[in-house]
Amino acid sequence: MLASIKEYSVDFYRLFFPKICGGCDIPLAKGENDLCFHCRMQLPFTNFELIKENPVEKVFHGRVNLEFATSLLFFSKGEKVQNILHNIKYNEQRELGIFMGRIFGKRLENNIYLKDVTTLIPVPLHPQKQHLRGYNQSDLFAEGMNEVLNIELQTANLIRKANTATQTNKSRMERWQNVGEGFAVKEPKILTGKHILLVDDVLTTGATLEACAQTLLQSSDCKVSIATLACVI
Ligand SMILES: [Zn+2]
Repeated sequence: MLASIKEYSVDFYRLFFPKICGGCDIPLAKGENDLCFHCRMQLPFTNFELIKENPVEKVFHGRVNLEFATSLLFFSKGEKVQNILHNIKYNEQRELGIFMGRIFGKRLENNIYLKDVTTLIPVPLHPQKQHLRGYNQSDLFAEGMNEVLNIELQTANLIRKANTATQTNKSRMERWQNVGEGFAVKEPKILTGKHILLVDDVLTTGATLEACAQTLLQSSDCKVSIATLACVI
């Protein structure tokens, strides 16, 4: 009886404040969470996790020595994936971020190229940005991934230095160098012998991920792979 009253109250509440799909912004049906059935079925999976020498790996060839790299989804402007990422980043849909991480974790579970991964490290935000937003979207993805993978998650060891925000008047080369100098590892010793999976939202040029990977590799004797939720390929 009590349960049915509770369910009735939730239904009543939903009538006026429906939960919205993070992909298409329509109200979710009863039983749906985060994404509607239609959006779930239409996610543009890359399937790159199944392929060695995939296009994401090729972005980093000759730039940084990675074990493996992959992205979950193709990103295209004006479409669902952009809307999903926008809702996670700017509309405080944290649950959606964790939900997407869980999907990614399921795809990477038992992956042959990542079977000895020990540690998840999300790419850190600029401290000012994190302060303003209150959270780092890549932390949410890593958290969801780790609900499935159940390994070590380090969110505070790789840090972004505060002084890389004003870059507009610099040349491309200067900007790249600045990004490269923009990260540091607080406790390098605890990374020794680890295989780290760096987690980020979107892969575009790869400059930030490259800088993070270089910082990790230079600071300790570890292996690094990369996983992003989406890629512009
Ligand atoms: Zn939808």
